[in-house]
Amino acid sequence: MTIVVNGFDFHCHVDLFPDPAALIADCDRNHIVTLAVTTTPKAWTQNRRWTKRSNFVIPAIGLHPELADQRRAEIALVEQLMAESPFVGEVGLDGSPPHRRTLPIQKEVFSRVLQSAQTLGARVLTIHSRRAGREVLASLVEHTTPERVLPILHWFSDSVATAVEAARFGCYFSINHRMLSADSGISLIKSLPADRLLTETDAPFTEIENRKSEPRDVTAMISRLAQLRNLPVEEMKRIVTGNAEHVLAFAGVSIPFSDR
Ligand code: MN
Repeated sequence: MTIVVNGFDFHCHVDLFPDPAALIADCDRNHIVTLAVTTTPKAWTQNRRWTKRSNFVIPAIGLHPELADQRRAEIALVEQLMAESPFVGEVGLDGSPPHRRTLPIQKEVFSRVLQSAQTLGARVLTIHSRRAGREVLASLVEHTTPERVLPILHWFSDSVATAVEAARFGCYFSINHRMLSADSGISLIKSLPADRLLTETDAPFTEIENRKSEPRDVTAMISRLAQLRNLPVEEMKRIVTGNAEHVLAFAGVSIPFSDR
């Protein structure tokens, strides 16, 4: 049976919405494949329970870099639960002023996540890299190989040169609506290889027309990407769908996910 997928949201904080069950039902109704990221491993059990009967929403196990210092003891739980989850996120590094101080601890936590992913293999990671693009890439190169770990750089905002280097290493890039309103985001979208482009929302942390964005907003991203890349919309949709299917297959997942 062919399942029509209308879009892919590779980075959404489903558990931070006021009514996660309603949002999941919405993804199922609209056929939007959504990666439900978490910021602490303590959210995993509930996240998995919520998504268990969904055909389109996949849970991910994570420990956000902004919480790495305060919750560093939870890395052991992340390592343990990663055995159950091919999708990992939100993880990464944050070098912006409020978090720069904790970078050494963030790096320790992120390295352990990467080492576990490498050992387990077939792991897809959605990675935060604000003001730490080079450090994230260096960690990936040090601890992982593209045959075992597929990194998705989410809301990437570092230089185009770093992005191109990361793409060469095997990184994918999930693009959200907010990136389209910055010149840096636009240059990035124009410079990346087409076969590395994915879509995301980072909802509920982004807004569209004065409301919180939702996974179904990714469908509008396709036409914006097509415009920027000078391609017909149908062609852009085909490219992103192909990329997304490759990422899901890497993690051993096929649509629908009802066998979980
Ligand atoms: Mn996020």
